[in-house]
Amino acid sequence: MIYELLTLFLHWKNLDVKKIMANKKFYIETYGCQMNVADSEVVASVLKDNGYLKTQDINQADLILVNTCSIRENAEQRVWGRLDKFRQIKKGKPELKVGVIGCMAERLKEKLVEKEKTRPCVIGPDAYRALPSLLERVESGQKGINTILSKEETYGDIIPIRAAENNISAFISIMRGCNNMCSYCIVPYVRGRERSRDPQTILNETQLLAKECFKEITLLGQNVNSYNWEHKENKTNFSKLLDEAASKNPSLRFRFATSHPKDLSDEIIKTMAKHPNICKHIHLPVQSGSSKILKKMNRKYSREWYIDRIDAIKKHLPDAEITTDIMTGFCSETEEDHQETLSLMEYVQYDYAYMFKYSERPGTKAARVMDDDVPEETKKRRLNEIIDLQTKISEKNKLKTIGKSFDVLIEGTSKKSEDEHFGRNSQNQVVVFPKDDEKTGDIVKVKIDKTTPATLIGKKVQF
Ligand code: SAM
Ligand code: SF4
Repeated sequence: MIYELLTLFLHWKNLDVKKIMANKKFYIETYGCQMNVADSEVVASVLKDNGYLKTQDINQADLILVNTCSIRENAEQRVWGRLDKFRQIKKGKPELKVGVIGCMAERLKEKLVEKEKTRPCVIGPDAYRALPSLLERVESGQKGINTILSKEETYGDIIPIRAAENNISAFISIMRGCNNMCSYCIVPYVRGRERSRDPQTILNETQLLAKECFKEITLLGQNVNSYNWEHKENKTNFSKLLDEAASKNPSLRFRFATSHPKDLSDEIIKTMAKHPNICKHIHLPVQSGSSKILKKMNRKYSREWYIDRIDAIKKHLPDAEITTDIMTGFCSETEEDHQETLSLMEYVQYDYAYMFKYSERPGTKAARVMDDDVPEETKKRRLNEIIDLQTKISEKNKLKTIGKSFDVLIEGTSKKSEDEHFGRNSQNQVVVFPKDDEKTGDIVKVKIDKTTPATLIGKKVQF
């Protein structure tokens, strides 16, 4: 009887009974950027359609997947550490399958299978559809490896299975790959050529999420500002896509990442200003404040160009939060170049920055033709100076919010207190305030009365 009922339910849900009854469970760990989080959601969808159920408990899994990042050497070191752990689990469970997917799989290919004793399935970012057939190959004792990069794959027809449990915020990948070839960066080699997804599939996904009562969507790409879809009469650039998405979904807030300074047009900035439901936050990685270093990095903009883009943001979006990525100790960086980075930080007054030491990546132009000649100690010292300055600027900026009120989307309960909500304002700042009768997913006006280095603390404004 239970079997019949279950069969009926699964049939009603359009799921294959035999596959589900096979009852295999997968566990997935994701490292790296938001694009990887979105990719893991696509992978979850591919696996679900092939009868796998997701588990949060690694010990219950028949398949462990690790979605990897290659951007810096330490990102790969972490994954090797996790693979050691999976090997331990496999010792007591020989039928367990392990899969390494994403950027590190793409970079190391066959070498990963040879080096790693769990004999993992190795799948690059454009081959996720092949995952079920590769798992079958592994089952029959063959190698499961596919690292072919595609010029077309966007997974536009796959509805991801969202990883976040609160059903409030979702990612939508609008494009894949990158054509920019920054000389230090591994991304173009491991994620392939830039390609944009059909705008109709993106808009359909936003409307589906709105129906499911999601509240916020982040449009993702390595360089979203260069989004460009051309098909017969239909031409859509990023600004047009953003405009349409925001107009058609007034119940949703929109964010996007990452912007490239060379492609951040006035048109995009004005589109942001036009729509109250486009969040007022721009992440604009600068990398260096020195035009000489920017040229060596092949960033395709100068210090002056970057400052012009910052001025345009401040003019049209005076309340916007501006954040950035800064890399220190790139090949041939002098003390003078470093001082230029510090002075640019003073000029922009970033609200937040992700700050890194340059890490040479095999195969990139910098690794091939430039000397990684800034000593490790100097890189560390410069990074610390950058972090110290940014900490001061962030704190100062946070203090300026005291007395102001913001619309805050409640994302859940504060980690520090069961009695407080935590959420984000349009500027992407984390706000904590006492619970009353609101619930997760509500947007509430909150007046800020104090700040910590990471958080704004306030109270709901009563009308
Ligand atoms: N596409 C984005 C852009 O153009 O800025 C970001 C891509 S990357 C995933 C994120 C950041 O990692 C970069 O902005 C850069 O600061 C940093 N990064 C990339 N390659 C690096 C390297 N070889 N060493 C250290 N940091 C690196
Ligand atoms: Fe890497 Fe540059 Fe592309 Fe960003 S824009 S992913 S830093 S190559």
